[in-house]
Amino acid sequence: MANVVVIGAGLGGLPAAYELRHLLPKEHTVTLVSDQAEFTFIPGLIQVAFNLKPLAHVQLGLAQLAQRHNLNWVPGQVTALDLSRQHLTIEGQAAIAYDYLLIATGAALAWDWVPGTGPHGGYTQSVCTPNHALAARQAWLAFLENPGPIVVGAAPGAGCFGPAYEFALIADQELRRRGLRDQAPITYVTPEPYAGHLGVSGVKNARELTAELMQERGIEVIDNATITAVQPEAVTLADGRELPFRYAMILPAFRGAPFIRDVPGLGDDQGFIPILPTQRHPQFANIYAAGVSVKLTQPDVTPVPIGLPKSGQMAEAMATAAAHNIAVDLGVIKASRKVPTLEALCFAEFGDTGIAYIAAPVLPDPKTGQRKRSYAVRGSWVVWVKAAFEEYFMIKIRLGVGMPWYERLGLRSLFGLQLLKDFSARPEAAATGSKSLVG
Ligand SMILES: Cc1cc2nc3c(=O)[nH]c(=O)nc-3n(C[C@H](O)[C@H](O)[C@H](O)COP(=O)(O)OP(=O)(O)OC[C@H]3O[C@@H](n4cnc5c(N)ncnc54)[C@H](O)[C@@H]3O)c2cc1C
Repeated sequence: MANVVVIGAGLGGLPAAYELRHLLPKEHTVTLVSDQAEFTFIPGLIQVAFNLKPLAHVQLGLAQLAQRHNLNWVPGQVTALDLSRQHLTIEGQAAIAYDYLLIATGAALAWDWVPGTGPHGGYTQSVCTPNHALAARQAWLAFLENPGPIVVGAAPGAGCFGPAYEFALIADQELRRRGLRDQAPITYVTPEPYAGHLGVSGVKNARELTAELMQERGIEVIDNATITAVQPEAVTLADGRELPFRYAMILPAFRGAPFIRDVPGLGDDQGFIPILPTQRHPQFANIYAAGVSVKLTQPDVTPVPIGLPKSGQMAEAMATAAAHNIAVDLGVIKASRKVPTLEALCFAEFGDTGIAYIAAPVLPDPKTGQRKRSYAVRGSWVVWVKAAFEEYFMIKIRLGVGMPWYERLGLRSLFGLQLLKDFSARPEAAATGSKSLVG
């Protein structure tokens, strides 16, 4: 009987483990390995950083979830993977054998690319992990006592920009609420070619709506910017400009987990895992990947390099497809393999208003350069929808539900998004480079 191991219990990994548990009969084991004791709904961390909600509101204990939903829970960090023997090493523990592996380890943060960035050893805050959000909150509360210039932005190579806009605009609102805004000029500094690009070019209205909002709120935008270093109270740009700050939040470039970089042939030089349309590794037939850990190339050539955003909903769709396809490989279900369409919807919350960005799909057709549909809309309703979605997501995680049909139907009826489709090309070749496959 197979042991299917999911590494990472984030927005991709935990729904994948639930989906596998629903699809596979009891004789198969679904093992979940995570270096965090809690599941965290990462989009909620910005509110935590502004002390607008407690961290506990966006976390759930993994040990209890795993017990309740029949997952074999193994806490710890995966430090090595032996592809020929099909086992993985978890720091300080015996090796675990797997038949199938689903890697959903998200982003490792490339602070070392820009000296002085990051909350551990650098001078800038971050909202990428629960600990970062707590440190950002502590620094924010101290900042409110002694306000000054704020710099928010992203390092060259970053691909996740939505949270930086959210951070700048929520900071604006929080300062206005306290009558402190005139003491705290805000600068948004970004490698994007223009404000509102967000790593996805040509989304109808995105540029206009985003730039208009930044202007309305008096936030200075510096685009095409390369942050080269951060000193204790100033950000240095490649053109020599120095941006003084008393509070800075800079999102880093992402790369893959260290163990991926250590296994020859598993990932690219940044540790992102190449995949076939079905989320399967092209060389190793029993390895799948989902979420931020997969390799998706930014199609735009921009003056300053940027990555491609991989949203939570994209991570979940990839994870659902991977789980389904593992069940097909195991012979448990007789159905077509599934492919995530990478049609993406992102609700960005900007205090009392928000913008919904829709790119269907995120990657345009390589031949025509066109998407089926892409647009942005602004409204206060976005804030409410985002809050409601967070509540819904936490409930479904509590209940052990992956990406149910009603969620897919809702996104299809409300936003015209189809998250998964049947894989129509010829089935992928059998294993090349892995041991025998179960099923
Ligand atoms: C501040 C912020 C706000 C965001 N807001 C939005 C939003 O509004 N909407 C949206 O769609 N997307 C948003 N995103 C993006 C979204 O959070 C990601 O797309 C999503 O979390 C990716 O899911 P994942 O499973 O790939 O990675 P994650 O959710 O990061 O999960 C990866 C997990 O793997 C664990 N892990 C890593 N390495 C190992 C290892 N070696 N061994 C064991 N475990 C390991 C990590 O600790 C983590 O728990 C936001 C991102 C950030 C940072």
